[in-house]
Amino acid sequence: MSDPKETLAERYAEVKASLPTHVTLVAVSKTRSAEEIQALYDLGHRDFGENYVQELRAKQPALPADIRWHYIGHLQRSNVKHIVPFVHLVHGVDGAPLLDELEKRAAAASRMIDVLLQIHIAQEETKHGLSQKEAEALITGWSTERWPHLQLRGLMGMATNTEDLAVVRREFDALADFFRTMKEGCLADPALFDTLSMGMSGDADMAIEAGSTMVRIGTAIFGERS
Ligand SMILES: *Cc1c(COP(=O)(O)O)cnc(C)c1O
Repeated sequence: MSDPKETLAERYAEVKASLPTHVTLVAVSKTRSAEEIQALYDLGHRDFGENYVQELRAKQPALPADIRWHYIGHLQRSNVKHIVPFVHLVHGVDGAPLLDELEKRAAAASRMIDVLLQIHIAQEETKHGLSQKEAEALITGWSTERWPHLQLRGLMGMATNTEDLAVVRREFDALADFFRTMKEGCLADPALFDTLSMGMSGDADMAIEAGSTMVRIGTAIFGERS
């Protein structure tokens, strides 16, 4: 039997070595125990991604306060208040009602919250996110008066779950193109519109080639989820 910590260290080193320095690694820790997260933290990692509010709420107080928690799941308005006090970046924002709720809670907590708009790029209907048209309307009409406690940092997307790499490639390329166009025409601070969150364990290389600046990787670091 191999030592699980050693395996984690090896996997982590391998993933890190595969990433260019301008790409931020978010270790996706959904379903992982606080002990597993602590083990990766002890290896020096600080950015962790979670999908479920209840799970995140349970783990966050048990772990070091300097962890940068990324909320990468579908966020319901009723759950915003639970994560606003500590969340570092909300990846999955899908419309003005959620932005309004984030603004309200961020103001109450006296925090600036960084957000990404999730764009629907996959063929699956089950995946969440805005159409490019909807996102463009939000970005070009971005109001710092309406959302003074929110900083629009960029976009997030998930490709279709398919073996057909040409499909994945096309979706990533389209999102990267859209990201660049929005950065130019963005009414929010374009210098801060710098994050394109795309790529997971199975497709991170392709996402980076297309222009990703942030990958969300679970399995390749922690092993298969049970
Ligand atoms: C689970 C998840 C990931 C990580 O997936 P892996 O295949 O384990 O790397 C990335 N992004 C989102 C939104 C996820 O839900």
